[in-house]
Amino acid sequence: MAYSITLLPGDGIGPEVTEATLRIIDAAGVDVEWDRHRVIGQTAVERGRPALPPDVIDSIQSTGVALKGPITTPVGQGFTSVNVQLRQRLDLYANVRPCATLPGLDTPFEGTDLIIFRENTEGLYSGIENFDERLQIADSIARVTKKGSERIIRFCFEYAKKNGRDHVTLAHKANILKKTSGLFLDIGREVAAEYPSITFDDEIIDALCMKLVMKPEEYDCIVSTNLFGDILSDLTAGLVGGLGVTAGSNIGDDYAVFEAVHGSAPDIAGQNVANPTALIRSAILMLQHIGEPAAADAIYEALVDLYQSGDTLTADVGGEASTSEFAEALSDRVSRLVEA
Ligand code: NAD
Repeated sequence: MAYSITLLPGDGIGPEVTEATLRIIDAAGVDVEWDRHRVIGQTAVERGRPALPPDVIDSIQSTGVALKGPITTPVGQGFTSVNVQLRQRLDLYANVRPCATLPGLDTPFEGTDLIIFRENTEGLYSGIENFDERLQIADSIARVTKKGSERIIRFCFEYAKKNGRDHVTLAHKANILKKTSGLFLDIGREVAAEYPSITFDDEIIDALCMKLVMKPEEYDCIVSTNLFGDILSDLTAGLVGGLGVTAGSNIGDDYAVFEAVHGSAPDIAGQNVANPTALIRSAILMLQHIGEPAAADAIYEALVDLYQSGDTLTADVGGEASTSEFAEALSDRVSRLVEA
């Protein structure tokens, strides 16, 4: 029976990398009935609809799973980020972003294999902002709750336990943000006490950034609040080859949305040059989530084979191939593996 999955191609490079990813899932032989929603974000607003149309939420609530391309957010004005709205409306509280060296891809560090667990619904993304016109003062409130902190930290420890990982680092700024980061750290220490077999430590965010770009191999699972987690995941994406290759998932108790770490990349949109690897790796996470580990493994194996061959790679990783040439070379490899 076909899986029913919501598809949000997004905008910018979204439709290009999404088409490439669908081709790979198809080559892996997974039968999916996609519920495709193209009208979202700016496209929806231009048609007089909300940036996040209700039918998108209805679809994910019905299928339980979505594959999503990036969606542009206007800077400093305009509608609230659709990405943030989706995470909050569906309570997708765990943003899981694995950063592991892809064999065959040349990076300054060998053997990096860490995962960022970012709290995805509160902190500085709570949307509590104010600008006092008269005083010319702007405020953004970072709301950190006991419930929100506990569930992401516990999610991180549970993930570590289930996946044979043995080290959790909590990133914070509790020396300055004594209430918000302080609460997150206190709860981290409480939850850590329930997992004695997992080494737990904490790092001040700025020092952690320095250590990550010097010795990334010393880290395993890193859990943090919303904004720190977002910045850390772009930093760690850079350690393993860049935004073109880094996957992510947004997980809640009821729904899951799989998307790359990167944004809509307006500088290269529409040129057929974007690297679809990040969304393809997000699709691998999705296939594992829905219970198709063999297809996920075949796609990963084919990706490694393609990168090791050094042929048909996109410009961001040193090649000259277009998005569609990359997709064709990869889908050939996936089909061969699946048929073997
Ligand atoms: P970006 O990730 O879109 O781009 C940063 C740089 O990385 C650019 O030079 C871009 O060309 C490059 N890049 C990104 N993805 C690539 C790929 N697959 N292949 C090759 N190169 C790639 O970040 P930005 O420019 O800060 O953001 C652009 C827009 O995307 C903004 O509106 C932002 O709000 C939005 N955004 C959306 C999401 C999301 O939908 N989840 C995430 C981040 C940013």
